[in-house]
Amino acid sequence: MYKDEILKLKKEKNAIILAHFYQNDEIQEVADFVGDSLALSKMAASTTADIIVFCGVYFMAETAKILSPTKKVLLPKKNATCQMAMMVDYDELLQYKTNNPDTIIITYVNTRANIKALSDVIVTSSNAEKIVKNYKDKKMMYVPDKNLGTYLKHKLGYNIDVWPGYCYIHENLKVSDVLTMKEKHPNALTLIHPEAPLDVLLQADFVGSTKQILDYATDSKKIEFIIGTDKGIIHALKKQNPDKKFYLLNDGLSCKNMKMINLEDLYISLRDELYEVSVPEEIREKAVIALDKMMELS
Ligand code: SF4
Repeated sequence: MYKDEILKLKKEKNAIILAHFYQNDEIQEVADFVGDSLALSKMAASTTADIIVFCGVYFMAETAKILSPTKKVLLPKKNATCQMAMMVDYDELLQYKTNNPDTIIITYVNTRANIKALSDVIVTSSNAEKIVKNYKDKKMMYVPDKNLGTYLKHKLGYNIDVWPGYCYIHENLKVSDVLTMKEKHPNALTLIHPEAPLDVLLQADFVGSTKQILDYATDSKKIEFIIGTDKGIIHALKKQNPDKKFYLLNDGLSCKNMKMINLEDLYISLRDELYEVSVPEEIREKAVIALDKMMELS
């Protein structure tokens, strides 16, 4: 019932529903577009819809508002936040910048608007490596994911400081998880998201963002895969590859904040235009410069 009502309202209000790969299956099914942070940012920047309903977490809806300031952006559950995004404090980063004026601040998209406003460039897990290469001779600070920052530092050998933040579901992955699953599924390839710790990533056959994992599994001739990221991605993996088999690397790979939105929340949000996301213009003007830099370099 909600599905039909949502589709009707969407048409009446010229709205678009954007959903992250980590959302519940029912949300992915009703969305106009399902993607990773990079693709969703691009879609938010280019849509002609009047309303963007963002099924994800707060920083994603906020990023859509920064890129599309004239549109109404709704987040169906107002307390859906990303724990990693809350691990960087504005005053601390400002202090770091003041003490290190020549350091390039490379900021993961998983941050609040005021942190983006202090940054030189934003990255996602899809484009971080490519963008960081533009600053190879500079000193860099990677904010806030210590694991992705450490992975880039290890892979590229650049001078990168890392902020001590992390994503709790990926941080909990262990080398023993990989060894156990490889023993159980000896023919499977192991595909892991770079928000996992370096020792775990070094056990992977492929390290990539959700979209890169999806493309890798789709293009591969192999039929079994161990997946080291949120279980929401399994929906898209199975949809694109009905004859292949996917095993989650461990049972804890489910972000509770990403699973908060259900069809009823989405319906009510669209019907009553709840909960609208706003960004103060003085912050937005600075944050959009760092986001535009990402678009230019990615
Ligand atoms: S999966 Fe991790 S990084 Fe993504 S929203 Fe959840 S806590 Fe944040």
